[in-house]
Amino acid sequence: NTVIDAHDVSKVYNKETIPVYAVNNVHMHIERGEFTALVGPSGSGKTTLLNLIGGLDKPDSGSVFINSLDITKLSSNKLIDFRLKNIGFVFQSFNLIPVLTARENVEFIMLLQRIKKKERDARVKQLFKQIGMDDKMNARPAQLSGGQQQRAAVARALASKPQFVLADEPTANLDSKAASNLLDMMIALNNEEHITFLFSTHDQRVIDRARRVITLVDGRVVADTAAVSISHK
Ligand code: ADP
Ligand code: ADP
Repeated sequence: NTVIDAHDVSKVYNKETIPVYAVNNVHMHIERGEFTALVGPSGSGKTTLLNLIGGLDKPDSGSVFINSLDITKLSSNKLIDFRLKNIGFVFQSFNLIPVLTARENVEFIMLLQRIKKKERDARVKQLFKQIGMDDKMNARPAQLSGGQQQRAAVARALASKPQFVLADEPTANLDSKAASNLLDMMIALNNEEHITFLFSTHDQRVIDRARRVITLVDGRVVADTAAVSISHK
């Protein structure tokens, strides 16, 4: 059950001057329920690849299939809609809307999808229970610790019941205790709710807890701990 299939994807910057192959002929399959870390030195193409997979950016060549649909072929309007329904995003700087409460930040995504109040209420309650923040629903981001803000950001990413969650350096701005708590929560969501996570990181303690690790260097996949099982399919 393949959820992400990046097929021969490339992204080149500075085509007119000195080209930078930020992502260079990458193939990547992610199955439903996987918990994968994308690692590599700074500048190796992790953010660019996550943006291509999430449809935030278009590749110069290659295709990105999400559940067998090539999202590189979608019009911008269709892509916006597709992203909202199918992909949850978590960023290193949390990106919560400061004037909204934690609950409103999560509910906002459901309002965009015209989910009815009864279902919104039930889902908000469930999500805040899952992230261990029932008692912080009505706090604004500034009243929360970094770790709590990022947990709320994960709840927001899950609001639309997406196919998978993409997280770009989700622990980069957290102290080690908050980072470890966030990982515990992501692992629990993966184990109990079968949420598929693909996250970039260069924190070794985070890498150690991933089930699968894909390494990028200079825009290319140079190692994949799942390579053996894939080649036997
Ligand atoms: P990582 O997330 O692994 O640090 P990035 O995807 O941010 O890597 O960057 C990959 C390469 O692409 C780097 O050489 C970076 O300088 C270059 N790059 C990223 N974004 C742009 C951009 N908007 N314009 C030009 N070059 C870029
Ligand atoms: P977490 O493990 O979720 O990151 P911390 O251990 O950082 O939480 O924070 C512990 C407690 O301190 C939290 O309950 C939180 O309410 C409070 N706290 C931490 N940072 C801040 C902050 N910047 N503003 C307000 N409260 C904070």
